[in-house]
Amino acid sequence: MEFTLIPDLVPQNRHAVIKVYVSRKWIFRGAMDNGPIHHIDLVLIDKEGNGISAEIPGNLAEEKGSIIEENEIYEISRFTISSARQMFKPVHIDKMIHFTYHTIIKASLDSPSTFPRYVYHLTPLHQIESYIQKNEYFLDVLGVITQVSALKPVRTQTQESSNVIKEIIIKDINDVTMRLTLWAERAKAFKLDDVYNPLEQKPIVTLFVGCLAKNFQGAYLNGGTACRWYFNPGIKEAAPYYQRFGSQKIKLQIPSEQEQQLSVAKETHVEHKTLHELLALDPYAFPKQGYECTVTIIEVPTTNRWWFPSCTKCSRACRPQDGGYYCSYCKSEAYTLRYKLTFMGSDATATAQMFCFDTVARHIVGRPCETVLKQATEAAPIPPDLAQIVSLKFTFRVTASNQTFAQREKQPTVLQINSIVVVHGRQHSLPSGIQNTIDQGPSTPNKEATLKLLEESPSTAMERLSTKVSKDVGKKLTYSTQDEDIIGSQVLDVAQGTNADKGIPTDKGKEIEPHLQSPPKR
Ligand SMILES: [Zn+2]
Repeated sequence: MEFTLIPDLVPQNRHAVIKVYVSRKWIFRGAMDNGPIHHIDLVLIDKEGNGISAEIPGNLAEEKGSIIEENEIYEISRFTISSARQMFKPVHIDKMIHFTYHTIIKASLDSPSTFPRYVYHLTPLHQIESYIQKNEYFLDVLGVITQVSALKPVRTQTQESSNVIKEIIIKDINDVTMRLTLWAERAKAFKLDDVYNPLEQKPIVTLFVGCLAKNFQGAYLNGGTACRWYFNPGIKEAAPYYQRFGSQKIKLQIPSEQEQQLSVAKETHVEHKTLHELLALDPYAFPKQGYECTVTIIEVPTTNRWWFPSCTKCSRACRPQDGGYYCSYCKSEAYTLRYKLTFMGSDATATAQMFCFDTVARHIVGRPCETVLKQATEAAPIPPDLAQIVSLKFTFRVTASNQTFAQREKQPTVLQINSIVVVHGRQHSLPSGIQNTIDQGPSTPNKEATLKLLEESPSTAMERLSTKVSKDVGKKLTYSTQDEDIIGSQVLDVAQGTNADKGIPTDKGKEIEPHLQSPPKR
């Protein structure tokens, strides 16, 4: 059988059959580690060592994704070829493979050792800083390990479940050092027991692939689900390392297995309530940590502007000025676009207007505000990427919104989402038996119209979003979308009052402990 080599793959040839080694396989679940599967990513290598990335769409994850394993060789046919994606490319090649319903995957009897094991494109450690937030490519680096931490529990701003990280310091041939943070399953999988002998203390040259450059207390490399590592690799770039470090000793404090056994931090108990219960509460009855509620997003009102220009220095809302935006506090024109997203959430008991700032909204939408805003037009102010949040179900931690405290009503009219607890994914039907409680407010929306929407399927609701204008719902907010000055001051107040969205580290909101100053003492 003739197999096509990766450089010879062209979109027109639908009959190509490839024989490839699966060098990497990881699951992409969007911004949330426990979210639904968006797609499965693969890095495939042919027998000549050419690499290409491949994607198995989420709906085929079970059927196709489950039969393909990392570190095995397969014969694959009936796939499609496209241009490489714009972002998060694991391999430096301008095309990629897509698995389809038709794709045939046949395990090969060849020994995996007959194929090259990895592809890489090294980035020097001193250049990492210039790649922060660029994310066009995953980065691959080479270095000697000088420090390894034990597993550390961390909490992220938008995800309540605790997570673990492991921090590693590497050093290149010019003694440039870099921090590398492995997350969750990757942190647990990183073990030096088989490669490091504490008596010999031989330096470990390591090739890390699939990292991203991030910034938190300085540039660092982030190792998520896409990250892999190869100890003492037989690559030409490693030769100078073996020469220079070969005769040296590097003492590593290897955390013992016992230390790895983490005591799970006790989490503050947060009570779960229905929307019906929450909407009947006095705003001051909400505890500081809020309540949890589980809702499905049923509508994104077009009357509320969902973005605002935010000062890059203080995060306050900027005012329009001379075709740009201006922060009168910082006397600065530097701004970035951020979410202030309002939507209608519903459970089986009630429907509530819900509000969240950029950090939470980014995780709900799955894309940054600026990207989504580019698709918006005057005729369709809610672009498809935003409209698709309708029918997504979440468990949120909520409090009464700041607007609530300034108004006359003794119940919250808007619930503010402070964090996401669980991502339940897309629902095929909306919550049943919804009591429409929106009309309890001072301005009564068109009850018929709202109920009608609830009876429609999520997809119909989505189509309607581009044209639907629910004026009455919009009136209930304390700010208006018509008057820029009012928006500015209202958002300002909210942002000042909560601090909910300020001082976010630029790494997807994940909090990391300060980097290692000295080897772990334990
Ligand atoms: Zn400012």
